[in-house]
Amino acid sequence: MHLLNADLHSHSNVSDGTLTPEALARRAADGGVELWSLTDHDELGGQARARDAALALGLQYLSGTEISVSFAGETVHIVGLGFDVDDAALQAGLASVRSGRRARAQAMADGLARVGIAGAFEGALRYVGNPDLISRTHFARFLVDTGVCSDTHEVFRRFLTDNKPGYVPHQWARLGDAVRWITGAGGVAVIAHPARYRFTPTVEYALITEFITHGGRGIEVMTGSHSAPEQLQYGDTALEFGLLASRGSDFHAPGESRIELGSLPDLPGRLTPVWEALAPRIQRA
Ligand code: AMP
Ligand code: MN
Ligand code: MN
Ligand code: MN
Repeated sequence: MHLLNADLHSHSNVSDGTLTPEALARRAADGGVELWSLTDHDELGGQARARDAALALGLQYLSGTEISVSFAGETVHIVGLGFDVDDAALQAGLASVRSGRRARAQAMADGLARVGIAGAFEGALRYVGNPDLISRTHFARFLVDTGVCSDTHEVFRRFLTDNKPGYVPHQWARLGDAVRWITGAGGVAVIAHPARYRFTPTVEYALITEFITHGGRGIEVMTGSHSAPEQLQYGDTALEFGLLASRGSDFHAPGESRIELGSLPDLPGRLTPVWEALAPRIQRA
């Protein structure tokens, strides 16, 4: 049986990707994607453009976003899919998550200046497509293009993660709030790239059970952030907790992202794809 080629996690220059929503839609179509979602961080500004471009190319579309959440001292990402983009509570929630990014970026630049990297705030801003959404990724691109590091992963490792000079802890949304904003708008909440978090099994169990208690229903199994063993492991997790499984490249930029849009392996047949639960929310031309 042909499984739909769904790519339900990607970023445009409305957050920390480099392509416009229109260019991303075209790249998704070229990559064989049949059902696409643009999931910009904490922001819906690209949704109408992404949907229009997708439908014009014959792709099916689900609305999307990726919400930054603070949980047990770590940042956790919750993807929302298939919600009403005009929902006022969701929009207000995302606006509250976005606020503070600029001050955080100033503090990050101050930390980098202390280790001899001057002008990082202005430098990062040159890469920002949306002034409300300055992110660590924009600093990473600046530090690569100025020759401080050879790739963005090196920037994160040396400068932008816990205890490094450009890292500034930040209070993001609460897990329950993020899940309720999504479900209250008619969507499904999904735990993004679960293998990326450095949780003990106990804390991971707490994350998943609290997520479900708040109404969360999905987990990413096939993502550009997972190794093959991690894909198997989180497939088991989906079954164990009765969660819907999602698939998405987390594509950000040509040459930067390891996984191309639409190119991940299919979800294992034993799992229930999240898009089956979202059938009435899928938009078609
Ligand atoms: P922010 O929301 O400003 O904290 O930025 C987080 C973004 O940084 C993520 O969405 C990824 O796109 C990117 N990122 C996080 N960790 C890494 C890493 N180790 N290597 C490359 N990019 C990363
Ligand atoms: Mn990102
Ligand atoms: Mn993420
Ligand atoms: Mn992402």
